[in-house]
Amino acid sequence: MPRVVSFGSVNVDHVGYLSHDRIAALADAHGWFPDAGETVRVDAVPAAVRDDLTETFLGGKGANQAVAAAAAGGDASLLGCVGDDEDEHAVLGTLAERGVVVDGVERVDGPTGYAAIVVDETGENRIAIVAGANGRVTPAYARRHADRLREADCLLLQNELSAAASLAALDELSAAGRRPTVVYDPAPAGGAAQVLAHDAVDVVTPNESEAAALDEGLADFDGTVVRTLGARGVAVETGDDAFHVDSPTVDAVDTTGAGDVFAGYLAAELGDGAALRDAVELAAVAAALSTTATGVQTAVPTREQVLDVLGDGES
Ligand code: ADP
Repeated sequence: MPRVVSFGSVNVDHVGYLSHDRIAALADAHGWFPDAGETVRVDAVPAAVRDDLTETFLGGKGANQAVAAAAAGGDASLLGCVGDDEDEHAVLGTLAERGVVVDGVERVDGPTGYAAIVVDETGENRIAIVAGANGRVTPAYARRHADRLREADCLLLQNELSAAASLAALDELSAAGRRPTVVYDPAPAGGAAQVLAHDAVDVVTPNESEAAALDEGLADFDGTVVRTLGARGVAVETGDDAFHVDSPTVDAVDTTGAGDVFAGYLAAELGDGAALRDAVELAAVAAALSTTATGVQTAVPTREQVLDVLGDGES
C-alpha cells in the first residue's frame, strides 16, 4: 500500500439556506458579512450566526484529499491540527471511519477550522472562513512530524495552511536521503507562488483559475504541471512531454471538491509507482464520479467504482 501523507487543513463547515430578509439582517448586524459570491477570512463567526447554519459537514482540503487517497487504496494519513470542539463534531472519529490515519493530528485550544457558508434563495454563496486550529499548524509542528513526512511515498500539500508551515515541511524533505513524491495543490491560489518555488515540489495541480493566478510561477516551475479543466479533463506538461486526458461524461450535480478527489487519487497512484498518464487517467475518472453525488468526502468513489468505469474491474 502506498503511504500517502496529507499535510493540511481540517474544517467543520456550517451551511445554512437563508431567506433574503435574514441575510440582509445579518449583513446589517455584522460588518464582515460577505457579499453574494464573496469569500472573506475572519477571526471568528459569532455562535448566534452559526446557530442559523444548521448543516455541518467535514471538509478542509487536507482532510478531503486524505479521504480520497484512502479510497484510492493508499495508506493515508493526515497531519494537521483540530480544536477542542473535535469531540462535539466527531472530527477524528469520522476521518478514521473514512480510512484516514489520524494519530499525528494534534489537538489545540479553540475551534477546529471552519467555514460559515450562507446559501441564498437563488443558490448564491456567501462564505466566511475561520482558520481556527489550521492556523496553529506551525513550522515546529512540521519538524515534530518530520519522520512521518519523510517516510511517505507521496506527500500532498494544499494552500490552506500558512506558507511557513508548508515550507518547513518541504525543508524537512530536502534534508533527507529518500523522499516522497510531492504533489502540491495550489488552492486557494493567493500566496501559493512561494511554496510552488520550493525545490522539493514535484507535481502541481492547479485548476483553471489557480493556473491563471499563478501564471508566472508555473512558467518558472520545472516539475510536472497537471492542469485540471473541469469537464474538459486534464492537461499535463512534464519536462519532455505534454498530453491531454479526457474526463468521462457524467451527470454532474455538485462539482465541489472535485479537485480534492483528483489530488488524493493522483497521490495514491504516484505513491504506488504508477506511470504519470495512468495516474492522471484514474484520478480524472474518480474526480468525475465524485461530481455525481453531493458533498465532498461523502462523494468520493471507491477504487472498484473507478476501475469499473475505466473498464478494468478485475485489477
Ligand atoms: P476544482 O474542483 O479544483 O475547481 P476542476 O473543476 O478542474 O477542479 O475539477 C477537477 C477534475 O474533476 C477535472 O479535471 C475532471 O477530471 C473532474 N471534473 C470536474 N467537473 C467535472 C464535470 N462536470 N464532468 C466531468 N468531470 C469533471
